[in-house]
Amino acid sequence: MELNDGSCFGNVQVIAEASLANYESEIKKLSVGSSLRVEGEVKASPGKGQATEVHARSVTVFGLADVEAYPLQKKGHSFEFLRTIAHLRPRTNTFGAIARVRNCVCNSIHQFFQEEEFLYIHTPIITASDCEGAGKMFQVTTLDLPKLAGQGAKVDYALDFFDRPAYLTVSGQLEAEIFACSLGKAYTFGPTFRAENSNTPRHLAEFWMVEPEMAFCDIWGDMDAAERLLKRIFGDVLQKCPDDMAFFNERMDKTVIDTLQHILNSEFRRVPYTEAIEILLKSGETFEFPCDWGCDLQAEHERYLTEKHFKCPVILYDYPRTIKPFYMRLNDDQKTVRAMDVLVPKVGEIIGGSQREERLDVLETRMKEQGLNPADYWWYLELRKYGTVPHSGFGLGVERVLLFITGMANIRDVIPFPRTPGSADF
Ligand code: ATP
Ligand code: MN
Repeated sequence: MELNDGSCFGNVQVIAEASLANYESEIKKLSVGSSLRVEGEVKASPGKGQATEVHARSVTVFGLADVEAYPLQKKGHSFEFLRTIAHLRPRTNTFGAIARVRNCVCNSIHQFFQEEEFLYIHTPIITASDCEGAGKMFQVTTLDLPKLAGQGAKVDYALDFFDRPAYLTVSGQLEAEIFACSLGKAYTFGPTFRAENSNTPRHLAEFWMVEPEMAFCDIWGDMDAAERLLKRIFGDVLQKCPDDMAFFNERMDKTVIDTLQHILNSEFRRVPYTEAIEILLKSGETFEFPCDWGCDLQAEHERYLTEKHFKCPVILYDYPRTIKPFYMRLNDDQKTVRAMDVLVPKVGEIIGGSQREERLDVLETRMKEQGLNPADYWWYLELRKYGTVPHSGFGLGVERVLLFITGMANIRDVIPFPRTPGSADF
């Protein structure tokens, strides 16, 4: 029998002799998916494929799994099919490996920030402010929507739970800034929600984001922190999950281990947006969305830069002010802001960050420019009014990191229970 307890990729081979009391009644009926406890002796294994095996003194069978009905058999299943049985897929090799690597990544993130003396803070899940100003939020309400719809009347939010429209958060950044501007360095790490109807292999409606925020830090310090964090995560995964990584390297993408090792030993390229546009224009590539100075880069552009042109992670910075949120610091050229995105091969953007606008008057102007009412952000503005400091931060999408590390192709397969348009099972 092959037994797996989830602690690692490998199974343990168990030898059960016919002399065991329940051999005929239970052991012979065991099939893939059964649960059992084995007590016995670990011995050197004469067979090849394993160094040791367990000779069972007793086998307790907790639950059999009907061979005819159990959906997971030893043959490979498609990831699409496995998504329909998300309650069973963690039992497969692939999803066990993903769960362990995901755990390792999250642990690394906390260790990294704790060692660098960041405070872990919890920012609210329910919020009344739209940080990205993009209107891709899920509304939270206790109003009786069917009743309101029947009345055809204007919704009176004064009657709603929070006396105003409220939403699931798209980012904890603004609140993280409060703590950075009070206590120095802080990070928040939690679920994030975006109602973007983009059915891509890199977008989820619910994903996990880690957002550090650092006082007295400019965009260069921000880039350095992002690079250090990613290298720490990659190094830990290679060191702590070697069997899982060997599996991804063998079965998903033959380059993942080499790529991670290469990244650990090289520096991320720092390239201004303007230079990136010149490279794209001169590339001779035909893109689905042609781009020029001022355009928001699409995944195809990001991938060209990091995969084909630079062949390493790239940090693009100084983006046009018109395509970035109000809180990013305006450069002296008045045309660009101190944004920085980290791009990696195959995934594209993995981190988005910036130096924050610390000047009250500029911040207010930028808000108005983007159609936001400064009064709604009075507390955010007060961080600039009282003892303002230069500060910076970024957001790292955990699932994007996992895509990159594992070589998995679809973001729905690196989160235990994916939430995407039209799908919220389990
Ligand atoms: P993109 O342009 O790739 O849609 P974004 O610029 O909207 O991303 P940011 O607001 O900069 O994303 O968020 C910071 C990070 O969060 C991104 O770099 C990415 O790693 C992750 N992220 C953003 N949106 C999603 C999503 N819908 N699903 C999963 N991860 C996401
Ligand atoms: Mn971004």
